[in-house]
Amino acid sequence: MLSSKDLIARNSDVPVKDIRKLIAKVKNLSYEKVAFDADSVFLNTEEQEQFQQLLARYRNDEPISKILNSRGFWKYDFFVNEDVLDPRPETELIIETVLTLFNTSEKLNFLDIGTGSGCILLSLLGEFENSAGTGIDISEKAIAVARKNQQKLNIKNANFENVSWNNFASSKQFDVIVSNPPYIRTSEIASLDKNVRKYDPLLALDGGETGLRPYQEISALATHWLKPNGYIIFEVGYNQAQAVSEILESNGYTSIQIAKDLAEIDRIVYARMNI
Ligand code: GLN
Repeated sequence: MLSSKDLIARNSDVPVKDIRKLIAKVKNLSYEKVAFDADSVFLNTEEQEQFQQLLARYRNDEPISKILNSRGFWKYDFFVNEDVLDPRPETELIIETVLTLFNTSEKLNFLDIGTGSGCILLSLLGEFENSAGTGIDISEKAIAVARKNQQKLNIKNANFENVSWNNFASSKQFDVIVSNPPYIRTSEIASLDKNVRKYDPLLALDGGETGLRPYQEISALATHWLKPNGYIIFEVGYNQAQAVSEILESNGYTSIQIAKDLAEIDRIVYARMNI
């Protein structure tokens, strides 16, 4: 038997909290149990073997969220795997932006384009309990993850569809369209951090030669999908806010605004469709 303290001592190059998370996964215990009751946590030979396998993945740059199949976003823990972009803290700004625009008691209809794990739509529906929403994604595997999260969080009014934005035929119109589309330039993919490049799906990252194509396509399509005075809300890459604002303007949107993330980077661009 090895104790959690032994494993921490033997892997002193790895942050203690990550070792504890891997042990918690192997032992099917809470992180708190492993951290605060360390003297009672031991791994038998088989568990040590499992731990070594997880640690090898960790040392191979796999994000701990993907090893644990869990990532915190907004108020929830989402199931994540290699089929979806890992939810990022800056994306929570989309939820905050919607909260500044509407009262949570309102009955809204949301569309989330490229929903991935479903984290944006499901978090919105967690706040706006009288509302409903559709999440679409070109990846069938991503839609399976989004549905799994819907069940896990027991959120009723979401509907996930495996369809690309170019093939989406909406029978209804939406009050709010949100999207964190792929926005990395193809030429920049190779220089992304390893944990992103190797473990986030390329489909969720690659925004084409300029990184702006998804914004051009979605802005044009969404003019048909938004209700009069509806909002479109995009997450954008660190240097894209100006270009995306111009794309929105040329598609007839008004009241274009930009919101900064905690790192003071222009991260959200949103606008209205006054028809
Ligand atoms: N935020 C991600 C990154 O910089 C990219 C996500 C995206 O393309 N939407 O790694």
